[in-house]
Amino acid sequence: METTPEVLINKAQRILLICHTNPDGDAVGSLLGMGWAMRELGKQCVLACSDPVPPIYHYLPGSEMVTSQPQGPFDLIITLDCSDLRRLGSVYESSHLSGVPIINIDHHITNANFGTVNLVDAKATSTAEVVLGLLRHLGISLNQTIATCLLNGIVTDTRGFSTPNTTRKSMEAAIALMDAGAPLAKITDQVFNRRPLADIRLWAEALHTVRLEGPIIWAEITPAMRLECGFTEEGDAGLANFLITANEAEIAVVFSQQTDGRIEVGMRSVPSVDVSTVALDFGGGGHPQAAGFSINGSLGEVREQVIAALKQAWLEQNSSS
Ligand code: AMP
Ligand code: MN
Ligand code: MN
Repeated sequence: METTPEVLINKAQRILLICHTNPDGDAVGSLLGMGWAMRELGKQCVLACSDPVPPIYHYLPGSEMVTSQPQGPFDLIITLDCSDLRRLGSVYESSHLSGVPIINIDHHITNANFGTVNLVDAKATSTAEVVLGLLRHLGISLNQTIATCLLNGIVTDTRGFSTPNTTRKSMEAAIALMDAGAPLAKITDQVFNRRPLADIRLWAEALHTVRLEGPIIWAEITPAMRLECGFTEEGDAGLANFLITANEAEIAVVFSQQTDGRIEVGMRSVPSVDVSTVALDFGGGGHPQAAGFSINGSLGEVREQVIAALKQAWLEQNSSS
């Protein structure tokens, strides 16, 4: 008999919930929202992420409980906003979790369906929206805590209800969360209008590297820049989202070199261009207009390779339309 999320959740007593490395607002919001909901059912929960929760999401209830070293045993794993097992990072690799059933809750078109049960809806704006659907199905009523976490996820991934995948259904989900007490204006302000000074300093450095090559705008971030700016996170501080606002560009790429030599490649595109296929080819994943991957190599080599692949994809997509 095929198993379901309900069956797995009913049987479980101690659940490990994990979101993706270098977490964004949807990863954190759906992790916390799902965690609070499972506690409503009387489950013991441990919330984990390989990287720390970024300071802008510290306002979310429960953010201080997220650990990078979960202590087992667990009888169920719930993954949130992860397109493949590698996206769970060191938490999964180091925690001896093989054999524990997984509920994979996600909305990436590139999801590898690695779970025992896969709740993957590529039409959903966010994993938070998929979580909301599951909570309704399980008959768990919303409270202000759960609702705030989930609305944080929807607001982040829709960039404030402005992405082309924002549907009536996602607006209705947001209304239900507001009815349960989630403060939309506060969340929007927190997600888009607040940032550490270190982010702004990092932009100042990285913007010097900006180049336009045909339809592609790109920039680089090095460990030396991060050190100089006091930027302690792994991501690009939202730089790719800013670069894609250039009128002249259809694709934006940020190459962020990590201290271990890996390069995180974050890509954005205008709605007529799909960058998720290139991300998949390089072993990563994402959405048509926001995708990424991690790769070893020097900045120069990686840049050349990735820009060539993006130009090729752009040409193919333009010739087929
Ligand atoms: P980012 O540029 O980091 O905001 O990521 C944009 C999108 O690409 C998100 O949906 C991520 O889940 C996805 N993504 C970024 N890096 C990776 C990776 N290394 N593997 C799979 N997906 C990724
Ligand atoms: Mn995410
Ligand atoms: Mn997401």
